[in-house]
Amino acid sequence: MRVVTQVSDLRSLLNAWRRADDEVSFVPTMGNIHEGHLSLIEEARKRSDRIVSSIFVNPMQFDRPNDYGRYPRTFEEDKRQLQDAGVDLLFNPPAEVIYPRGFENSTYVDVPGITDILCGAHRPGHFRGVATIVCKLFNLVQPKLAVFGEKDYQQLLVVRRMVEDLNIPVEIVGAPTSREQNGLAMSSRNNYLSDAERQQAALIFQLMCETAEQVIAGSRDYKILEAKAKQVLAEDGFEPDYFSILTLEGLNTPSDMSPPDELVVLVAAHLGQARLIDNLPIHQYTALAESKASHAS
Ligand code: AMP
Repeated sequence: MRVVTQVSDLRSLLNAWRRADDEVSFVPTMGNIHEGHLSLIEEARKRSDRIVSSIFVNPMQFDRPNDYGRYPRTFEEDKRQLQDAGVDLLFNPPAEVIYPRGFENSTYVDVPGITDILCGAHRPGHFRGVATIVCKLFNLVQPKLAVFGEKDYQQLLVVRRMVEDLNIPVEIVGAPTSREQNGLAMSSRNNYLSDAERQQAALIFQLMCETAEQVIAGSRDYKILEAKAKQVLAEDGFEPDYFSILTLEGLNTPSDMSPPDELVVLVAAHLGQARLIDNLPIHQYTALAESKASHAS
């Protein structure tokens, strides 16, 4: 695996692959690599000849400066894991390479509408930072496809919308969320949790499953389901930002006629030092429940 920090080195390696007609896929990350990231690499490997990954803790997408400063940086271990996973090229630029004039003075990309709600409403400027860095990295790497985790479902939709609106010729592939045994979605921010909090954090997945089950059973009082789940979280010591049932397609409020398998349950909640986000498309819950039932029989 080649590791490069400069744009010129990145471009010359990519040009050589392009001349050889190799298909390049791209997996951007902020590092602190875990199984969730590795599952994206695996997905990329199935679909291309060459895999480029990046590690860049993007200052533009952090709404609180202390969150940026303390974000886990574990480069040597990350490098080993990405190499073992078969990444061909790792781009690990310093902030000055990406934002030579400082990110505050950089041209940015704003995706309207879908960024006004959920994490966009709770983290002002976050999705501007995400859209801008993804757009810049796409321009630098010019991959055929890029893999993003469904774990950050709103982010996936923001990237899809940006690519569509700006006619960026990159196919966006979504990959399912990797979870711990207890259901907790893997995340670099889980490092901020104590062992007890990691156990406690399983409540998020439990509540998403219970809510999915109630919607499948016919409940259409989404506001009541959402309020109940938020209350359970608050009673257990979480500080929920949102617990929402929305349409999978555009994160719109569902109607009574919306089929359950076109809905998704999305959650963000603070626990101790961590802000945890997660989501469960209801059709995935159905598949999960069916596979559990078939294993039990
Ligand atoms: P991050 O390093 O947290 O910015 O994440 C980089 C990519 O990995 C994004 O596309 C995330 O959605 C994805 N990702 C993070 N956690 C998971 C997970 N538990 N399962 C699948 N993908 C994930």
